[in-house]
Amino acid sequence: MHKKYAVLGMDIEDWYHLDYFDKEKCDQSESTLDGISIYLDILDTYNIKTTFFVVGELVEKLKGTLKQIINQGHEIALHSHSHRRPLTMSIEEYKQDTGKNIREIRDLLGYNAIGYRAPCFSMDRERLEILEDLNLHYDASHIKFSDHKLYGHLDLTGFTPVRNDILKRNDFFEFETSTLPLKNKNIPISGGGYLRIFPWILTKYLLNKYVKLNKNYFFYIHPFEFSKNYNIKTPSGTSFATNLRFRLGRKSVEKKMHRLIQLLKERQYEFVRFEDLVNKQGA
Ligand SMILES: [Zn+2]
Repeated sequence: MHKKYAVLGMDIEDWYHLDYFDKEKCDQSESTLDGISIYLDILDTYNIKTTFFVVGELVEKLKGTLKQIINQGHEIALHSHSHRRPLTMSIEEYKQDTGKNIREIRDLLGYNAIGYRAPCFSMDRERLEILEDLNLHYDASHIKFSDHKLYGHLDLTGFTPVRNDILKRNDFFEFETSTLPLKNKNIPISGGGYLRIFPWILTKYLLNKYVKLNKNYFFYIHPFEFSKNYNIKTPSGTSFATNLRFRLGRKSVEKKMHRLIQLLKERQYEFVRFEDLVNKQGA
């Protein structure tokens, strides 16, 4: 029988990288990156190793923290240079951007990243093939959630499923972020935003449904969701709904994260990094 695997990844970006803020209008002296160490402490409690997808322009500033992350046995992967959505860039710009992200991590941390996740899951087949050309070994930008207008559509013709949410072509892997099909919709049960906003009782219900159907669980969260910097002034003109989406549930998310980990542990999930799944050939 196949084992069950969970990757509890984090996308390391600051609050002003979020697609719903205009970065230029944000006070970038305010930071939510304190959330990284809060998450590291939670992972450490359970001796969980995971994958951190890092925005390249933060590497210099976070050099100490990122070295600590590597020394603790976590994986570092790519999350673009400055969090521009790939589908808004030309192919040439995309190639430059990803190449820069690779070099920032290699030159400043002495680390060769093998994986990538696109900002906002903004990815298509042409850009995916650039990742292969740049000698990366996997992408984790695939999500079946067609309601979100910013997410891309990814043509995976020629890829063969290794498991229900891991696909492979030659030596390149595609990991699909977990969603739960429910009444003709895919409910995204894998993001920190949903963990914050949904009451735990609902998350628990959806997760219990999900784990009965799936052997893998690929989750992602961001530093701002754990950050204790609650008083950031968002740019003037930010809508009420956007402010709510940014702030809601941040004070309870640590507690919910523990519950999520405990639920997965009770269901015999093994916590791994994406690179472990590449090395196991997706097994
Ligand atoms: Zn991101």
